[in-house]
Amino acid sequence: MDMIHITMPDGAIREVPLGTTAAEIAQQISPRLAKEALVARIAPTHGLTAPPSGWSAGAAAEKSPDAASEARMSSSANGEGFLVDLRAPIDQDVRLSILTPKDPEAIQVLRHSAAHLLAAAVLELFPNVKLGIGPPIDTGFFYDFVRAEPFTPEDLARIEKKMRELAAEDIPNERKMLPKPEALELYRKWDQGFKCELVEERAIEPMVSFYTTGKFIDFCRGPHIPSTGRIRAFKLMSVAGAYWKGQEGNPQMQRIYGACFYTQQELDEYLHRIEEAKRRDHRRLGQELELFSVQEEAGPGLIFWHPKGGLVRKVMEDWLRDELLRRGYDLVYTPHIMRLELWKTSGHANFYRENMFGPVEVEKDDYQLKPMNCPGHILIYKSKLRSYRELPVRLAELGTVYRYERSGVLHGLLRVRGFTQDDAHIFCMPEQIESEIEACIDFAFAVMKTFGFTEYEVELSDWDAKHPENYPGSAEDWARSTGALERTLTRLGIPFKRMEGEGAFYGPKIDFKLIDAIGRPWQLTTVQFDFNLPGRFGLEYVGEDGNRHQPLMVHRALWGSVERFFGILIEHYAGAFPVWLAPVQAEVLPLSEKFSIYANNVTAELRAAGFRVHLDDRNEKLQAKIRDAQLLKIPYMLIVGGKEAEAGTVSVRHQSKGDLGPRPLGEFLSDLRQQVDSRAV
Ligand SMILES: [Zn+2]
Ligand SMILES: [Zn+2]
Repeated sequence: MDMIHITMPDGAIREVPLGTTAAEIAQQISPRLAKEALVARIAPTHGLTAPPSGWSAGAAAEKSPDAASEARMSSSANGEGFLVDLRAPIDQDVRLSILTPKDPEAIQVLRHSAAHLLAAAVLELFPNVKLGIGPPIDTGFFYDFVRAEPFTPEDLARIEKKMRELAAEDIPNERKMLPKPEALELYRKWDQGFKCELVEERAIEPMVSFYTTGKFIDFCRGPHIPSTGRIRAFKLMSVAGAYWKGQEGNPQMQRIYGACFYTQQELDEYLHRIEEAKRRDHRRLGQELELFSVQEEAGPGLIFWHPKGGLVRKVMEDWLRDELLRRGYDLVYTPHIMRLELWKTSGHANFYRENMFGPVEVEKDDYQLKPMNCPGHILIYKSKLRSYRELPVRLAELGTVYRYERSGVLHGLLRVRGFTQDDAHIFCMPEQIESEIEACIDFAFAVMKTFGFTEYEVELSDWDAKHPENYPGSAEDWARSTGALERTLTRLGIPFKRMEGEGAFYGPKIDFKLIDAIGRPWQLTTVQFDFNLPGRFGLEYVGEDGNRHQPLMVHRALWGSVERFFGILIEHYAGAFPVWLAPVQAEVLPLSEKFSIYANNVTAELRAAGFRVHLDDRNEKLQAKIRDAQLLKIPYMLIVGGKEAEAGTVSVRHQSKGDLGPRPLGEFLSDLRQQVDSRAV
């Protein structure tokens, strides 16, 4: 009998008969592994780059219908080897890993199999549907169908039930190889035009790979888990419209989305995160808490800050401006509209054109609404000859910019057409750069701490060293500045991910992502070198040697924009801002009209002490007033009646902590003062 050699991840080599499967090897290792296994990864030992035959055939050559996601799956994440079914006979010497649910690649295979299970269930209930494609996605799977009637929520419930039945039957996912003409004939007879199209277009090899799950037959290169029984933790989520092949004008399909995880606990956690995200949606909260609006009459993507949102913004900006001054920045303001010519000098009129509003003609001259603040700051820098003694020059502006974004991508405060960047540009000498970067990072941490974020991720993005011709600046410029960013992060002990080729075209950068209260990352702070603009504008300073030199230029934003950061804060706090940020810090609630004098006194005293306070003197029951203040997420409710008036106290109720009992007014005031001054979060 012909034998082959299987190298396991620990280096052990097993000699087994030709055609042995990964499932059999798993069984030899331990029944437990055999039970856990979902899929296998093999890599030919003798340096072959193609996958083994039979598996290679369809797999490598066929461009999968679900291109992106399947491609990611079939060649493994570390670029080594191929994923194959556990039942695939192995026909040469290979390195073998048996993947269990612990492996993210295996989960994607499970999700792909769940997409097949969905299609199988739909075919049971609606035999006349036309099939599109069904790949795995990050949290589950989808499948596209054409059906005359829309799928209703009741249909989804029935389909999900059918999926559970089919899963319980533990139907094998079987792989078949068919000659291409036979494959076409099969789908033609079945009247599955989209599938015919895919086979025509994408099956190049004479033999085409298919998977069957019950009545469902898919042109698919796999791999799949052995049978449906392992698909347990899933839920159908929604139906959305989709175009065949994602192209407008193509037939409309109904895309059924499902969530799928390995365990019920993971699924539950995911569903909970979705619920939380809905509960925290800043667009809904923005309306309920009267923070901001977008007015159709005024145009999409343009934000109206209402009084309460305006108050939060004032507090945010006050903090920022004070910090800027304390940290040696100069505050500037630059015009919203400037000659188009300036944007030609900066290059924006060329490479950034698609993101800009069209020019405005004034006295036969074209003017441009600013999409960025950089050229304005550059003009201030250039307004006089700078000496090395003045450097670094740090110009900061809460600068409002306008950018063209397609209406389809606009999203509340997060994606808008007009916004205010907390922008700054630092002009310095090469020997100052590391301390400047360190100061930017320190500032970024101050933002995180002040606004209540503790977790973050950092990315350092470099150029694509293979294509230096695409970038301004010399190799030394790039090496020196990337080195400066890297050394600074390392010195500060900040872990970071290196992103080769992800830098801006004009220079390397570091990006901070904050992790919010429910674990979502938000791109925020960015510190970017610029080797482009100083040259374009001929920036100079007179060095110690008396000669003219070009300064280094750094763009940096901490919040990104006031709008976006406000949106993130709303979601992070679910609208319940810490007391130093809250638009109304305390609501005074008199028990009845009888106590309105004392209630007014309490309100006046808080206001005189500089707090944002509101008196609810409506003729309503206390319970109703508490409920309303609670809905507005006001941190403190101060209930006043006869007892309180007599004793000079207030009965304190906290938004999340509930009843805190009566406190002398003076004591409450100094407590509040302490919390606001320390910006407790
Ligand atoms: Zn498939
Ligand atoms: Zn800039």
